[in-house]
Amino acid sequence: MPDVKVSNLNKIFGDNVVLDNVDFTIKDGEFFTLLGPSGCGKSTTLNCIAGLEQPSSGAISVGDTTFVDTDKKLFVPPEGRNLGMVFQSYALWPHKTIADNLAMPLQIRKVDKTEQRRLIDEALDKVGLLHLRERYPHQMSGGQQQRVALARALVYSPSVLLLDEPLSNLDAKLREQARAWLKRLQEDLGITTVYVTHDQDEALALSDRIAVMSNGYMIQVGTPTEIYETPATAEVAAFVGRCN
Ligand code: ADP
Ligand code: MG
Repeated sequence: MPDVKVSNLNKIFGDNVVLDNVDFTIKDGEFFTLLGPSGCGKSTTLNCIAGLEQPSSGAISVGDTTFVDTDKKLFVPPEGRNLGMVFQSYALWPHKTIADNLAMPLQIRKVDKTEQRRLIDEALDKVGLLHLRERYPHQMSGGQQQRVALARALVYSPSVLLLDEPLSNLDAKLREQARAWLKRLQEDLGITTVYVTHDQDEALALSDRIAVMSNGYMIQVGTPTEIYETPATAEVAAFVGRCN
């Protein structure tokens, strides 16, 4: 699985500088978290990797493939990137069964029916929901729906998983459970994951490395221990709960 490289990423909305020279490399198989308060630019960064947003300048590559290079006027659209994405809202199709929800991305990729069934069952099995394949979304809990959204992102074997606050719509107890299985799943699959959250506990519990963001800047990148034990600034210290 490939490295993700984000180089000198800038994004300006009107006269609002939302990303200011954001620069990082995520190693193969790493669980990498963008952590910071609401509005600091986490989702914009993730959306630039996904291709849902065009950076004002900068470059993004995954492995040997460059997705964006503004100097070369290169922009690969989202469907050409083979990345799996899960948002805060699960965005399942309410009138389709779970299996049919997972079939959609495979139909778009013109996978044949027998192979579709195999891939759908394999993905549902990974998130422990194979027995619910014929249910409709409204017949499932919020936590289960979020696992379906994750299975749908995994069904076409993406090279990288992009997760934008996937647990924030769950109540505290469900969130705790979801955090545990997400960690287990990532360890099992070893898939490179870019995770966005404003929740410090979640970031410290799940991540191999954390990038702390503030106002469009990346202020510190390090392991959970480094971030917690040796925060680079008072702002990082305050944000990870070390202010006193
Ligand atoms: P986060 O995910 O960290 O909460 P975002 O990346 O969503 O932050 O937003 C960063 C900043 O960019 C915010 O100030 C937000 O208002 C602004 N922003 C995001 N998307 C747009 C857009 N499409 N148009 C204008 N401003 C935007
Ligand atoms: Mg966001």
